[in-house]
Amino acid sequence: MKKTPHVIVIGAGVGGLTTAALLLKSGFQVTVLEAHTYPGGSAGTFYHQGYRFDAGATLAGGFTPGGPHFQIEEALGLKFPTMNVDPAWITYIGGEAIHQWHSRQQWFEEIIHHFPESLKFWKKQEKLAALAWQLSSRNFPYPPQTLQESLTLVRAFRPALLGTAPYLFSKIADLLPKKRSHLLKPFLDSQLLISAQTTSEHTNVLYGSAALDLPRRDVKYIEGGIGSISKLLAEWIQQQGGEVRYRQQVTQLISKNGKITGVMTNKGLSLQGDYFIANLTPAGLKKLITDPKTQFDSKQNNRASGWGAFTLYVGADQTVIHNNIASHLQVIVDPEKPLGEGNSIFISISPAEDSNRAPAGKTAISVSTHTNIHPWWTLANQDPDAYEARKKEYTERVLSAMEVVLPDIRTKSSLILPGTPVTFQFYTRRPNGLVGGSPQESLFSVRGPGTGFNNLWLVGDSVFPGQSTAAVTIGAQRVARLVKQTRFPS
Ligand SMILES: Cc1cc2nc3c(=O)[nH]c(=O)nc-3n(C[C@H](O)[C@H](O)[C@H](O)COP(=O)(O)OP(=O)(O)OC[C@H]3O[C@@H](n4cnc5c(N)ncnc54)[C@H](O)[C@@H]3O)c2cc1C
Repeated sequence: MKKTPHVIVIGAGVGGLTTAALLLKSGFQVTVLEAHTYPGGSAGTFYHQGYRFDAGATLAGGFTPGGPHFQIEEALGLKFPTMNVDPAWITYIGGEAIHQWHSRQQWFEEIIHHFPESLKFWKKQEKLAALAWQLSSRNFPYPPQTLQESLTLVRAFRPALLGTAPYLFSKIADLLPKKRSHLLKPFLDSQLLISAQTTSEHTNVLYGSAALDLPRRDVKYIEGGIGSISKLLAEWIQQQGGEVRYRQQVTQLISKNGKITGVMTNKGLSLQGDYFIANLTPAGLKKLITDPKTQFDSKQNNRASGWGAFTLYVGADQTVIHNNIASHLQVIVDPEKPLGEGNSIFISISPAEDSNRAPAGKTAISVSTHTNIHPWWTLANQDPDAYEARKKEYTERVLSAMEVVLPDIRTKSSLILPGTPVTFQFYTRRPNGLVGGSPQESLFSVRGPGTGFNNLWLVGDSVFPGQSTAAVTIGAQRVARLVKQTRFPS
């Protein structure tokens, strides 16, 4: 009898766990090795003094029919605990409060109210987003890694999709009206920064159009915190006979004749496998490959390097939120200044209906701002006191930005925990605390899951289509197909 092939997945983020679950379902033996004590990585929820804080991601899309999380629910027979969020968030910029409504009609009313000159832009964006979603919902293996994927890609094209051709090289800013409110571009930039990791003059128009459409695609709050997605996937894997082993940080991949044969962990565990999935950034994977002959990652230098996050986890009285406010709020303090570094923040407040998140009468708030990783690392390595001072300064900046929408935040909070790129590296093992994948600047420089080894693939937000729990789920579905195609070539 033929031995069941063994897949080893390094990392229990959403991408790794989803790949593991799909392969387990397809008859593979599956072992997931996770460095941390719980799953989820950047989309994990951690427990501290009675609060459950979302570490990074707080909102998720892709649960409506046809969406990636919906497809996983169908494939595995499980249900993620979601709650509706509408508006998805409110952006406060230059004295305006722009509501990101789910309904198209309400959204267009919002645009007419705030930016009437941009109606034509939003209609174009809507059309391009529809084309981009059409492509992504149809098994669109981009950039193709095998002959089979190239054929699938060609078949995925329909005449209607030819409409995307003139936009392959355009940027979102190319579509903006020349005469416009001074707030329109900063508003768009702030939306693109959180969904495409870059601003309108750099974001590819097809990717950017889909990213700007997210609130219309029905984003959800996950009960218990966003970590419930990974928790449920890990439990499903264990119930179905797969293994998820925590506190096992993979430190080395063993290779022989251009093939990976096994892994070693920091706890002395040595495991042999047939196929390997790295739920890591390329830099994270590179550290594990000791084979001097490999060309892995030689193209990485041409890619934009990305962002880190400065975060605050705040335990506060529920009364800090006033009745008419949404639970996800974006604040741009000064629209004339560059975004990130505390000038733009995203606040997520746990809803009172979800009593699992905080002690009675309290709420768990996660706040994040984009930050350049380099000053943090320079100070952390060379001047620990200055690093601590910078942490305090950023805490103050973010609290001041929060006061724009939550004026009592300082007096009504009893717990404030800051997180820097150094913290992110420690808890998610992402080298240098780089999060959110690469900025989506050009469709021609994105990375696919291939690694140069024919039994090792990357999955996660460094691989196209990039960041978010929905995008890494699309990537996971693709990698599961690649493993099956390698085992059963047609
Ligand atoms: C501040 C912030 C806000 C965000 N907001 C949103 C949002 O609202 N909505 C959204 O959809 N997305 C959001 N994102 C993006 C989203 O969180 C990520 O794109 C997604 O969760 C990444 O998943 P991943 O599969 O790449 O794995 P990761 O999250 O990178 O997880 C990888 C896992 O692998 C483990 N690991 C790493 N190295 C090893 C090793 N050597 N051995 C064993 N285990 C290892 C890590 O501990 C981790 O658990 C946000 C991200 C951040 C940082």
